[in-house]
Amino acid sequence: MEQTPARSESHPASTRLDSYVDRYAARTAGMTASEIRALFAVASRPEVVSLAGGMPNISGLPLDLVGSVISDLVADHGTTALQYGSGQGDPVLREQICDVMRLEGIEAHPDDVVVTVGSQQAVDLVTRIFCDPGDVVLCEAPSYVGALGVFKSFQADVVHVEMDADGLVPEALRQAITAVKAAGKTIKFLYTIPNFHNPAGVTLTAERRPEILAICREHDILVLEDNPYGLLGFEGEPMRALRADEAEGVIYLGSFSKTFSPGIRVGWALAPHAVREKLVLAQESATLCPPSFSQMAVSAYLTAHDWQGQIKQMREMYRERRDAMMQALDDFMPAACSWNTPDGGFFVWVTLPPGIDAKAMLPRAVTARVAYVPGTAFFADGYGSSSMRLSFCFPTPERIREGVRRLAGVLDDEMELRATFGAGAPVHGLEARSGYDAPSTDLS
Ligand code: PMP
Repeated sequence: MEQTPARSESHPASTRLDSYVDRYAARTAGMTASEIRALFAVASRPEVVSLAGGMPNISGLPLDLVGSVISDLVADHGTTALQYGSGQGDPVLREQICDVMRLEGIEAHPDDVVVTVGSQQAVDLVTRIFCDPGDVVLCEAPSYVGALGVFKSFQADVVHVEMDADGLVPEALRQAITAVKAAGKTIKFLYTIPNFHNPAGVTLTAERRPEILAICREHDILVLEDNPYGLLGFEGEPMRALRADEAEGVIYLGSFSKTFSPGIRVGWALAPHAVREKLVLAQESATLCPPSFSQMAVSAYLTAHDWQGQIKQMREMYRERRDAMMQALDDFMPAACSWNTPDGGFFVWVTLPPGIDAKAMLPRAVTARVAYVPGTAFFADGYGSSSMRLSFCFPTPERIREGVRRLAGVLDDEMELRATFGAGAPVHGLEARSGYDAPSTDLS
């Protein structure tokens, strides 16, 4: 009897790969694995404190309730839930999505909502329908790595716009628009994460919001408002969405990934009516329809559960972790480092002393059993080497403290090395290992 080949033998000749490379479409040139991916395989070992991943902490979800909601869904509506559905998404869920958005001041009609496979797919669909190769997308500096990957895959040019502690800087936006126009390029949209930014942790202030909208209106630039963290603020009420004050010029993206479940993969786009039609066509050609089962599960969860109370609990859990992160940074980090205090979300952005390269230092950090994402991952143009993103969403407060203590130790050593050897300090430490694809959530 023929033996089943061992798993490692199931990729016969790597030479076959080479023969495919020449056939790939030109746009795939931008689809490259991150250089640090392999390191994350090591970073995902239990002894390493990962301050790298952006995985929501869903340990507080009422799993029994979710289980019974899903089981009732199959028993009572199985033939609909397990069937193809509308390309635009389940009408009942779209109404509930409008209720969710009302918390941020948005008055919308369910007809203008398109359900997507996470908001990640919404970024993809919007880029697909707007961007030709060479078109410009304006993004904050830094910006969400998953969106940068989409823009690259459609061969759009990313132009970064400065942010400060109050979010996107209006004057920098004006300058960027002028410079891009002077270069004869077309700006297709401004991609912005106004609340609890990934990766920068900052929030666009209420004062700046009308100004950003006015600039975009003046220059006829569409705004793509990506807001997966908006309900996860640690103080007060949710901020008013940009879309709440500008219905025609803004496409708003939302997601149930951070407020319910990322595995269920349900997000949405709220678009001006004319754009919505094109989005549905793009959705249909990508997936025929977003998954009926997931949508109906979210819908049933929202009906059966006090989802707002659940989000409140999540906010408290994340605030406790943010506080642990802030305290540990204060207690352990070298004085030459700086960081912000996020008012919500998952991330804090740390700036290192000049000369310290976060990417070069990562192998040493992983050897010291702590991981982070180097700042360069969040720029399309190579900037960010002296910064890093730390996430506080997943580890316990104790592990966060221990992780920061280890990181500070690595930084102290690194600074001492720099002081002794200058820029040519030897880089040694754990080698990146190949042959394992780390979960992409490390970069989410
Ligand atoms: N936008 C931002 C800013 C994110 O941080 C993420 C996930 N990390 C997404 C979009 C995509 O999330 P999802 O597809 O799970 O909704």
